Amino acid sequence: TSVDDWARSDAYHNSFLLTADAALDAALQHSTAHGLPEIAVSAAQGKFLNLLVSSIGARRILEVGTLGGYSTIWLARALPADGELITLELAEKHARVAQENIARAGLSGKVKLILGPAHESMRQIPAEPKFDFIFIDADKQGNKHYFTEAKRLVRSGGVIIVDNVVRYARVADPAYTDEAVEGVRALLAAVKDDPEVDATTIGTVGDKGYDGFMYIVRK
Ligand code: SAM
Repeated sequence: TSVDDWARSDAYHNSFLLTADAALDAALQHSTAHGLPEIAVSAAQGKFLNLLVSSIGARRILEVGTLGGYSTIWLARALPADGELITLELAEKHARVAQENIARAGLSGKVKLILGPAHESMRQIPAEPKFDFIFIDADKQGNKHYFTEAKRLVRSGGVIIVDNVVRYARVADPAYTDEAVEGVRALLAAVKDDPEVDATTIGTVGDKGYDGFMYIVRK
């Protein structure tokens, strides 16, 4: 099978399970119009994150890597009225476009964006109150550092999801040694040696290609 088949399969499933959504569609359009890269999670993945957050009854979410706020909107929509999402972004332009998209989705009251290098921003977030859910999706070479900080910030029983940990199976192929691949390998090694978490990788395939989420539970 090829990327075209995966995209067609995603579209088929989405035609049953997802409906057109003005705020999300506008967020993607606005992001593209401002030249942001098309590397947001897919619609099906966004909904998966939304359902996961609902399932665990999350009230506080931390997102590492905002881009245009597409995943932010999916995640924040699953929060209760008094819920809160903090999202971290390095690029000023991405942050500005995201704020506009988040406002258009009516979520500005729940979402706080912190501009700057995510590792620094994370280090400045106090350990209390804890987060229920953390989504890591920024520069992949930072994964291990983000994981370490996420562990400090997530509650016992809380969930950390890391995106793009399969990368067309390149992470498992020693021929690849680029920063992103090495960043995922460092994360795998850290999780393996860490008795305070349990984790699994779930491959994802669809209109965003062949990749995967790491699903980590804090003991
Ligand atoms: N989560 C977004 C979504 O699905 O809609 C996609 C995020 S995109 C894959 C990664 C983002 O991380 C980019 O906007 C990039 O500017 C940002 N980024 C890269 N390095 C960063 C860093 N050191 N600190 C914070 N954000 C960073």
